[in-house]
Amino acid sequence: MQAHIEKLVKLQSVELERARLTTALRALPAESAQAEAALAAAERQAAECSDALNREETLRTRLEREIAGHRQKSARFKTQLDVVKTPEQATAIDHEIEFESGEAERLENEEFSSLERTEVQETALAAARAEVERLAGALDKTKARVAQRQQEFNAELVGLNAEREALRKEIEPEWLTRFDRLAGSRGTAMAKAENQQCNGCRMGVRPQMWNQLREGELLTCDSCGRMLYWDPAFAPAAKSPQAASGPELKTRIDKAQAGD
Ligand SMILES: [Zn+2]
Repeated sequence: MQAHIEKLVKLQSVELERARLTTALRALPAESAQAEAALAAAERQAAECSDALNREETLRTRLEREIAGHRQKSARFKTQLDVVKTPEQATAIDHEIEFESGEAERLENEEFSSLERTEVQETALAAARAEVERLAGALDKTKARVAQRQQEFNAELVGLNAEREALRKEIEPEWLTRFDRLAGSRGTAMAKAENQQCNGCRMGVRPQMWNQLREGELLTCDSCGRMLYWDPAFAPAAKSPQAASGPELKTRIDKAQAGD
């Protein structure tokens, strides 16, 4: 391949790698944010369990006070039974005692239900707290990993920027102008010609152009306008098909896949 084509191809691969790293760098903070959101959600869940437990406790305190009130009233009515004058009075007081005892019993059942709910909520709270602990640990790990990746990516970018600057100095200005214009409008400036196709736009290459490309010329794709080149390193060995077998073929396939 001609030197200027090789440099332009190399420049494109550096540019694509820079773009990939820049995108990856921008995506990193989202990983931390996601782990933070997961921890915050678990903390809210634990707080809700804790609130529910407190509410049950408050409810039982009130129930116990009310139960004691009904029991006291019931006891007071029982002492009144000793001093009643008529059977009607006794019946009326019996009804009062029955009512107060009934209320005390109903509220005791409510208290029991509350205790049962508390048992369930305590299990839920323990699970929620364990989850908070797990996610807090995960967040620390994520933050450390993100910081490390940021450092690595930034270091790689510094290297790529230096490589880019060095390459640009070696490429003639008119090629660079074309390269930059195409990269700006098409995303990529260089397209490899493979199987008589432009791999930038997948349009076919005319036979005459295909021949010129195979002679090492840098042409312009009629369809997408990219700079079209042919890479002999990835070309099938058309002249000696009998040699294309065994380990040699495998190497060539690996190369072709690597270049894809
Ligand atoms: Zn094209």
